Amino acid sequence: MEKYQNLVEEYKNKIDNANNIIVMAHINPDGDAIGSCLALKNILENEGKNVVVCLNDIPESFDILNGFEDIYSYEELKMKMAYIKEFDLAIILDLSEKDRLDTRIEYLEKSIDSILIDHHVGGSRFCNLNIIDSESPATCQIIYEIYETLGEINKVLKYEVMLPLITGIITDTGGFRFINTNVKTLEIAIEAKKLGINFDYIYNEVIFKKSISQFKLEQEAIKNLKFYSEDKIAITYLNNEIEGYSERKPGEISGIVNMAKNIDTVEISVFLNEVENESYKVSMRSKEKDVSKIAKYFAGGGHVLAAGCTIKGSLEEVIDKLLEKLNEII
Ligand code: 5GP
Ligand code: MN
Repeated sequence: MEKYQNLVEEYKNKIDNANNIIVMAHINPDGDAIGSCLALKNILENEGKNVVVCLNDIPESFDILNGFEDIYSYEELKMKMAYIKEFDLAIILDLSEKDRLDTRIEYLEKSIDSILIDHHVGGSRFCNLNIIDSESPATCQIIYEIYETLGEINKVLKYEVMLPLITGIITDTGGFRFINTNVKTLEIAIEAKKLGINFDYIYNEVIFKKSISQFKLEQEAIKNLKFYSEDKIAITYLNNEIEGYSERKPGEISGIVNMAKNIDTVEISVFLNEVENESYKVSMRSKEKDVSKIAKYFAGGGHVLAAGCTIKGSLEEVIDKLLEKLNEII
């Protein structure tokens, strides 16, 4: 209940002193990134603030969340910036390293004050106020607990706030399955249910529904899947020459890294997505072993069981580099 007691007063002061607020989260935003941005947007707008959410490449599946259609991309906001010039406050969510804002870093620099709220392991504290709790399962849960500590949770919790919050919690806990799910997470789920939120609606619209092109990319990834180190490591990839690759929509490949994780022998599942010629975005998922160490070695980051980085080289080179490190922890 009193979790962020020493931080919330400053949080409140910064919000009270701001009128024009920009809210941003990491590149390739997932449910927690989008959910935390939209929940906070709805909370702050209900308080009468002007709030702009800026995210690139948002998966369409999140269009059930209130405020989704008002999200600006970097380019869209650029045009608006001809009039705004600067923000009173930037709130950065679910993001551990400043460079994961990409070009939008410009908008953080054009903000007078800044708050970071995040739950990644070992993230940097690049804002004026940094609320970082790496034990929390989701940034959405931290936001909930901030307002609870402030004694304002009953005031701010409306359907349009709770829907994105619980969506972020569901996506970052694998639907309350992952080890990070705690008692508080389930208490928040109870509150969501009391507000009339149906979980089957979120599962069907956001998690299960897929486009035919997504299915085809998954088919290709299964075809490319190979096993290493006595079948303990599974690695698959998508290279950027395959059919339909360039029209790929955001989010269509987000499930691929999880496909091999259910195989009994597999301890670590890896997905290599060729983002540029001979440059691979690496996604790692683990049952127990700490893959964030490997990601950090390659200048990436993330959580113990889910981490990522980018490695340059041919497919064979990237796999060799990774296997050398993965074999050390397996
Ligand atoms: P994903 O595999 O879904 O892209 O990422 C898994 C986790 O690792 C996420 O929490 C994400 O924040 C983190 N992550 C992925 N790629 C990078 C990266 O290049 N740099 C850092 N710092 N974190 C990353
Ligand atoms: Mn998150």
